[in-house]
Amino acid sequence: MVKSKPEYDIYEMFNVTNDTCKKSTWLCFKFRFLPPHLINHLIAALSRKYRVAEVASTKQDKKQIALFSGTAVFELQKTPKLRKLLVMKCPNAIQIQVLQFGKQIEGGLYKYIADFMTEEIIKIISTRFKMSNVKFEKKWECGQTKPESVTGSNDFCEDQDTKYYCETCKIAHEFTGEWSDLQHGTLDFTKEEINFTKMGMIVLNVLADVSYDLLKPDKPNLRPRSDFDITQLYQEHFKLKKHIPTNGWGGNWQTIKGTDIAVGDDIERIRLTRNELQHSTAAEIGDTRFNELCNILSDLLKRFDQLNKPARLYTDQLNTILSKTMSAEEVQSMKMKH
Ligand SMILES: [Zn+2]
Repeated sequence: MVKSKPEYDIYEMFNVTNDTCKKSTWLCFKFRFLPPHLINHLIAALSRKYRVAEVASTKQDKKQIALFSGTAVFELQKTPKLRKLLVMKCPNAIQIQVLQFGKQIEGGLYKYIADFMTEEIIKIISTRFKMSNVKFEKKWECGQTKPESVTGSNDFCEDQDTKYYCETCKIAHEFTGEWSDLQHGTLDFTKEEINFTKMGMIVLNVLADVSYDLLKPDKPNLRPRSDFDITQLYQEHFKLKKHIPTNGWGGNWQTIKGTDIAVGDDIERIRLTRNELQHSTAAEIGDTRFNELCNILSDLLKRFDQLNKPARLYTDQLNTILSKTMSAEEVQSMKMKH
């Protein structure tokens, strides 16, 4: 990724030095293809919630607002303005950093900003741009890295070590985890348990909605959605016999070929996904199987987005769950439901 040096130095503008200010690690939203106007919509969304920071220009007393092409600084606190958010557009990424004056940065401190940004990006891509195939990944990098040199070289992992070697500073740093949950790194949840939680949320929320929305036009007096679980919805489809699976009702994964994409086949896929979770004795899903299921469901939800035309696209709901950092409460509550 090639970046040009910006014409203005944000750090100089706000007198950000190692003595005056703590810089958070960079949080990068990396895209394969970054929609050109995403940053403008994002800055607009941020301006509705936070004030754009002001800064005295060097010579005159006149203040100017820190809003430039593709870069902006926001006040995360109305007063005492000790916490500022720097947002920048790069060729294939949007990167953010919190400038924290006069306080230590702690784990979980900026999770609310990371969540807000993630949700807004998904909302803009899906509702405004109506692009369901734009994918992004969240990465991080040491806060001492100059804005123009940030590449987002580090992955977030569930079991982050407390120390890491920094390629910018060439020393070992403590990992703060300010973008993640407070409990981040201290809980013993495995990747497999997190996968299970995400798949459980997809089943309980998205897939159940799909099945219900499909049933609704054919059943004028259908009871509310909350009255049904996936099994009951499957039975309703079975009784209705409108969408018959290519290979009959009640098969297994081997029965359905990838080319079987009748609505009835997808009704079977929903049932099989739900059963697979139900039968996972340890409430865990390995990475390989998790990715397979995500691919199957992503295709299935695209078909239902076309068919059911939901107010909020199912594929967006899927992406929101997949990109979300799971909290301890969510992992535990999914284990309880299991
Ligand atoms: Zn460093």
